[in-house]
Amino acid sequence: MTKQKIIVANWKMNPENIDGAKAILNSIRKEIKSKEGIEIIICPPSIYIEGLKKELIKQENLKLKLGGQNCFWEEKGAFTGEISPTMLRGMGCQYVILGHSERRKILEETDEIISKKLKTALKIGLKVVLCIGETEEDRKENLTFDVLRAQIENTIGLLSGRHTTNIIIAYEPVWAIGTGKNCKSDEAMSILMYIKKELLKILSQNTVDRISFLYGGSVNGKNARNYIEGGFEGLLVGGASLKPGEFIKIIDSLKEKHDKEYFRK
Ligand code: PEP
Repeated sequence: MTKQKIIVANWKMNPENIDGAKAILNSIRKEIKSKEGIEIIICPPSIYIEGLKKELIKQENLKLKLGGQNCFWEEKGAFTGEISPTMLRGMGCQYVILGHSERRKILEETDEIISKKLKTALKIGLKVVLCIGETEEDRKENLTFDVLRAQIENTIGLLSGRHTTNIIIAYEPVWAIGTGKNCKSDEAMSILMYIKKELLKILSQNTVDRISFLYGGSVNGKNARNYIEGGFEGLLVGGASLKPGEFIKIIDSLKEKHDKEYFRK
């Protein structure tokens, strides 16, 4: 099955203001002429989403999709400072990233919290980019597979098969995020095979076949191709997604792969 290629831009807490955000968005938008077959999802800080949505409408460019970097597990109520998945959807988002390692580590989000967020986000119709990955210590202690298994069991495993086709899994080795030390593609591929094997204990073959798998961790214009050639269907990009020139190079490697598959048919 030829799946659509996906690229997710995680802008984290950047840039400093909405004008900067519009400038990055517009530089990317101008360069994207014909990127059929690739879903490009920009996840800016939530405070910029509405402004960027208006910008895309103004430029008559609805090819770029928007996503949140996080959301709360309730749809509404007295939860100071939180943003619900319903609000994200209302602002024009079709996607949300959940379980990012920075939230797991810095905000102390547990699998239990991520699981609650996952259920609500899927219920209200968002597509969820669920991040999983081992830390440097886990890797040194040969715990990578155990950690990934637990992250899968404690989140997707609790969904009882509901809405699972709206999940996108991003394998992000924590030690590779923002460090410039990207995971070798053969190592990432063997981990991807393991993730799929674990998912098959919970989900049907048909469902697993429909899930897209992304790699994330120090992806740049030079190394992006390796993951796509290796078998990932897309990429989750942090730092490089704020540099339009670099980001476009990454998109181009996805486009090449898409065209190869498409025209071979
Ligand atoms: C990320 O934020 O998920 C990420 C992969 O960041 P970077 O590309 O900067 O490593």
